[in-house]
Amino acid sequence: MLKLQIISTTFPAGHKLWVARDPQGISQWSAGSERHRAMGQPLPGDEVYQRLSVLQARGPLGSLARLAAALGSQGIAPGPGLGDPGHILAAGLGILQEAVAGRIVFQDRLMSLLRDEGLWPLEAARLLDYASYHGLVEQLPGISRLSWGALRCNRCGGQNVVFEPCPVCRRRECPLCTDCLTLGASRGCRILVSAPFSGKAFSGEADFTLAYQLTPAQVRAAAQLEEFWQSPSQRTLVWAACGAGKTEVTYPLMRRALREGHQVLFAVPRQDVVRELAERFRSAFTGVEIAVHYGGQPWQAQGQLVIATTHQVLHFYQRFGLAILDEVDAFPYHGSEMLRFGLIRALGPKGKLVEMSATPNPVPRKGTAVTIPVRHHGYPLPEPEFVKSRSGEIPPAILKLIEESPHQWIVFVPTVAACEELAAALREKLREKVAACHSRHPQRHEEIKAFRYGEKRIIVATAVLERGVTFPGVQVVVVDADHPVFSRSALVQMAGRVGRTADHPSGTVVLCGTRKNGAIKGAQAMIKQLNQEGAELGLLKGEGYA
Ligand SMILES: [Zn+2]
Ligand SMILES: [Zn+2]
Repeated sequence: MLKLQIISTTFPAGHKLWVARDPQGISQWSAGSERHRAMGQPLPGDEVYQRLSVLQARGPLGSLARLAAALGSQGIAPGPGLGDPGHILAAGLGILQEAVAGRIVFQDRLMSLLRDEGLWPLEAARLLDYASYHGLVEQLPGISRLSWGALRCNRCGGQNVVFEPCPVCRRRECPLCTDCLTLGASRGCRILVSAPFSGKAFSGEADFTLAYQLTPAQVRAAAQLEEFWQSPSQRTLVWAACGAGKTEVTYPLMRRALREGHQVLFAVPRQDVVRELAERFRSAFTGVEIAVHYGGQPWQAQGQLVIATTHQVLHFYQRFGLAILDEVDAFPYHGSEMLRFGLIRALGPKGKLVEMSATPNPVPRKGTAVTIPVRHHGYPLPEPEFVKSRSGEIPPAILKLIEESPHQWIVFVPTVAACEELAAALREKLREKVAACHSRHPQRHEEIKAFRYGEKRIIVATAVLERGVTFPGVQVVVVDADHPVFSRSALVQMAGRVGRTADHPSGTVVLCGTRKNGAIKGAQAMIKQLNQEGAELGLLKGEGYA
């Protein structure tokens, strides 16, 4: 079954060339009026499809190739029967379609699922041949050769392909994609099977309840998203202030899409966020089945509302009427051709895409994005102040501010070395406990805990604390804010740690550096732009923007 055979089929109304796994089984399911001949030898997937494209080519070369192949073609002796073929088709097709609809999956994975469902490998092979002959599923090799000679991976769209000895097909040179290796090898000899999601998944009852009310800024954004749904536009961006609550803003839009029978994807970068969202969605939504997809989860989990890590988009095929992508400015989605390719393929033909970010790149022009400029408490975002300082140092005035302040402080630094060094220096200067937190710190979770429970007032941290954490009442200093590791987005996110809760809606953000570079200016401008917009819309409380 590793090798595939080109079949030439003639039937009363015409002729077609296609690819089968089990030529001897064709007579079991084909109509009596069809005549099948095998063209050439069985070949590995990439070779068979390359050969097929030669045979299907228009013009004299194609005609010549077809003529030569027809001369060398052979009749196919029927293989053994496997019980009642009609019964196998009737029982198997439903299972196959449920497994493949809206997905793209390697044949070996699909085969093992069909085996778990009680189909013998040969039955499954015949079923797949039947389905592909009748256009119920599509199939492609893992790697294809494009017409201009380049190789392309059909799973991820990548073109970084190497030739290696292959443990699967035993060829000495089997093409292998290096772009998506982390998802398991995509090889020339592996076959991808896919089918668009065509049926309507009826969720007319879908609804949600929230334990709290949406803020005026959220209500406005939610209404804009529903307008987007009805507009001809295919794509929109949600730009939300850090901590403004963009997830729940999408609920009315998701409900609408679900009620109209669409499948909905909500994708986020990290697994822990997927799990957290699944809990939130399960308690908020009723009348809809929720499927959760991340590495190591059963890939065939069913549900109209799919929550997945961003990488999982590569497993879906023309499935979603609506896809919502969070943190599009961050790893892994930002700049990834592969995930963009996968996302476009995961959307149905008229599918719509909502991208969300607290720090979109580039910054959208006014009126081109759905904005949520104000946090739930209604106070403006703390605007970062730039203080000129020597490299690696907290300037004396700021040190004094930290020393005399009753608040907790996060001191962000660009590197692990700077983190250890500055934490030690602060312990000595301020004579108090200072936590340190970076990716290589063996006790970083304990350090964060000590800070969270107020056992330590100051934490020196690298970018690990940049996103997704809330410490009520915290203030922020960024040391060496002009260091190249700190992008504009990173600075906005770090500033976004301050003033998140209603009890402490404001606070201080200081960016220290030898010079005010583009990232610092950009971060200041971005935060100011949101505050101004919030003020113009009359959504802000507090002074300064009234
Ligand atoms: Zn191979
Ligand atoms: Zn690939």
